[in-house]
Amino acid sequence: MAQSNVFETVMMQFNKAADLMGLDPEIRKILSNTTNEIVVNFPVVMDNGCVQMFTGYRVQHNNVLGPYKGGLRFHPAVNIDEVRALAVWMTWKTAIAGIPYGGAKGGIQIRPWDYSPAELERITRRFTFALGSNIGPEYDIPAPDVNTNAQIMAWILDTYLQMMPPLERNRCVHVVTGKPVESGGSVGRDKATGQGLVYVLEAWAKDHSFPLSGATYIIQGFGNVGSWAARLLKPLGAVLVGIEDHSGAMVNPDGIDPDALAAHVAKQGRAQGYAGGAVVDHETFLSTKADFFIPAALEGQITAETAPLLNVKLVVEGANGPTDLDGDMILQERGIMLLPDVLANAGGVIVSYFEWLQNKRSEFWDLAEVDARLLKQILGAYRRVHDAVERHGTDWRTGAYIVALERLQTVYRERGIFP
Ligand code: GLU
Repeated sequence: MAQSNVFETVMMQFNKAADLMGLDPEIRKILSNTTNEIVVNFPVVMDNGCVQMFTGYRVQHNNVLGPYKGGLRFHPAVNIDEVRALAVWMTWKTAIAGIPYGGAKGGIQIRPWDYSPAELERITRRFTFALGSNIGPEYDIPAPDVNTNAQIMAWILDTYLQMMPPLERNRCVHVVTGKPVESGGSVGRDKATGQGLVYVLEAWAKDHSFPLSGATYIIQGFGNVGSWAARLLKPLGAVLVGIEDHSGAMVNPDGIDPDALAAHVAKQGRAQGYAGGAVVDHETFLSTKADFFIPAALEGQITAETAPLLNVKLVVEGANGPTDLDGDMILQERGIMLLPDVLANAGGVIVSYFEWLQNKRSEFWDLAEVDARLLKQILGAYRRVHDAVERHGTDWRTGAYIVALERLQTVYRERGIFP
């Protein structure tokens, strides 16, 4: 589950990189703070006629490189500390990816599975209304995250457009990304985070003589990121030997078929009940021997308690912030390599940028074009991080942060601080 001190974690990661690259202390002061923190409490009428109050958040960390950008999550663990940390990670991620955005994040503290689709629609629309002009197509652009999807983005879009004067509506379709394709979304956005992760993993595997064909791996989380990563790793010959989600864990040394499991999860909403593996407990899952591990669920999963259990050579972070500071240290001591979230899961926001560009230009790119551009963009990020790792003789998370901080520092120096 999310740690209450996740913002502290992101700040300590930041300070480590800032020390190593010699970040200007004045710029460090700016980046250590968020810019805007919007908290809204809003009422929604439930199906039974009663009113329920909800709390929603949008934290905008930095927009010096472009509009605020980042997802909205619906989860009971959402709180201001978590959303702050996730917003900061978005600033680094977009800077590393080389796209013209800043960082933001938001969400609603809610158990979404307790509500009917009609209630979720009203909650989403009322939240969008409460956010009002705190979001906007050239200002702050939400997207899907944990427990939010294309349908929820369509409701946000529709609500936002209702609030615009009629003449402006068609100019505002890029207020949100990750929309259904028919409503202005991009093909390839649904699989983009998993696809980007696989592109980064392939590049790293090539550089480190780590054959993916026949490699075994385990995944935590089988939502958008985990399921797409697994489905895309199948044709490369990698073998999924263990999976865990909120309903439990299972292993199978002969391999779990990602497509069959994804079909099961789409129907049942959980991995539990899938016949292709033996049910195991959390510790046994984490101790499963494999070549790599993809955490693709929530923050704070690889910690002082769990990092010693891992029996893999590499961790590829699909989730945001799955490894805390102790976890990082233990992995390094144990010689386990780690490809960090801000690089490995950047494919989602990169294709969000492509969707935004298509909307602005009234264009429609096909899947081959989206994939080719994603590959180029994320490989550029991979190379920049690789270079920073070599230049500073550091770990990949710190190297990735240095890439982001160098870019932000350059822009602050060029533009100066108003007035
Ligand atoms: N929620 C995703 C992330 O954490 C995507 C954000 C976006 O597309 O704006 O990167």
